[in-house]
Amino acid sequence: MSEPATAQSVLIQGADAILTGLPGAAARHAGPDLRMEDGRIAALGALDPLPGEHVVDARGCVIYPAWVNTHHHLFQSLLKGEPQGLNATLTPWLAATPYRFRSGFDEHHFRLAARIGLVELALSGCATVADHNYLYHPGMPFDTSAILFEEAERLGLRMVLCRGGATITRQLEADLPQALRPETLDSYLADIERLAARYHDAAPDAMRRVVVAPTTPPFSMRPGELRECAALARRLGLRLHSHLSETVGYQDSVFAQHATSPVRFCESVDWVGEDVWFAHLVKLDAEEIALLGATRTGIAHCPQSNGRLGSGIAPLQALEAAGVPVSIGVDGAASNEAADMISETHAAWLMQRAKGGEAAVARCRGGQGEAGADAASVDDVVRWATAGGAAVLGLPRIGTLATGQAADIAVYDLSRNPRHFGLHDVGIAPVASGGQAHLRRLYVGGQERVRDGAIPGLDMAELGAQARAAVQALKTAAGVA
Ligand SMILES: [Zn+2]
Repeated sequence: MSEPATAQSVLIQGADAILTGLPGAAARHAGPDLRMEDGRIAALGALDPLPGEHVVDARGCVIYPAWVNTHHHLFQSLLKGEPQGLNATLTPWLAATPYRFRSGFDEHHFRLAARIGLVELALSGCATVADHNYLYHPGMPFDTSAILFEEAERLGLRMVLCRGGATITRQLEADLPQALRPETLDSYLADIERLAARYHDAAPDAMRRVVVAPTTPPFSMRPGELRECAALARRLGLRLHSHLSETVGYQDSVFAQHATSPVRFCESVDWVGEDVWFAHLVKLDAEEIALLGATRTGIAHCPQSNGRLGSGIAPLQALEAAGVPVSIGVDGAASNEAADMISETHAAWLMQRAKGGEAAVARCRGGQGEAGADAASVDDVVRWATAGGAAVLGLPRIGTLATGQAADIAVYDLSRNPRHFGLHDVGIAPVASGGQAHLRRLYVGGQERVRDGAIPGLDMAELGAQARAAVQALKTAAGVA
């Protein structure tokens, strides 16, 4: 006779496919059922309901690990499609959009932007968000760090705060009338200590983490200051994160300022290692790829933002072959009007394959012929955006579906949209078909956070109305007609 179900026991039953986030043959579990107990995955396989157990009918559905988004700027969720920056490359876009508008963010706008971005992510099946927040300056009248943790907690999501900031004003900021003053190193480090003491949880499935993340290492701080940041992070057991090597202009600036490559510069200030991950890494030479791999420094790949800004496509295949842990981030919505993990993984899959094809040279021109077939599979992309994210964030109890792991689970219903009809392998549908697969359930630590494509208690029409009013207020503050 079966044991009776515990109060927290849920059986998700009858799924058409289960993707685990694990590599190789373990990427798919035969299923078709998954049991959660007390916030963890208790069993996978062909399971019968326990007496009194809550059962979720998952026929017509596929189950994924909830996504882990490893690079974002949530405040940008009110800066989508800004015309002056829409067709610009990185540096003019930074000046036109995030830097031009950021001084208009008061506490209400910041909180609203964070909520919009987190809601969008949750509805795509994302449970964990690493936000690279750089809205800090001396005398700021509200605490952006606290707001990010509060908004994530409201939605029941895991928040990794990557505490940005700078001690140097970049030229593109200095020319702006609303340029914000930089911090001192002492005040930056003191705030890291405050945040770590208040929020950081070292648990392998923590709900809250703090990361040391000056906004852009070669330009935000002096080399000695970056070394002090790295030393403090390692003393406190925090990770390091930032932007690196996004464009050729970035490479040129680092060479002009520091007479070396961006990755070599980071190595010189102790900013490489298993506890470091960088967003972008689009433009790299072979030596940099080898150094990143040898030190197990990770990447947050942001294909939609890199595409939107005309930056290029990161060489994920070469990076992974070298030993670099690969993860996926949506980046801020000011350079990605689809800042959800379904759109991002769909783009990652297509763009990596296109990159392979771009490198192909015809045999009649002295090349090797067709290429790109082995560039990236959907299972690779799922692994990068789940287990890969958990690895770079140092959260080993999330990101994979296996017994004992935290029950961070997305259940996609493929029975409602003709886009998903006719598939020979339904397991690939959420990534390969793109769009927005209907999210029947999102669980974070076994807690139900999304039901039938909606967040319980959230008034979406009201959120949209608040967003429209906020965009108008931000335009007025920036002097936009
Ligand atoms: Zn970014």
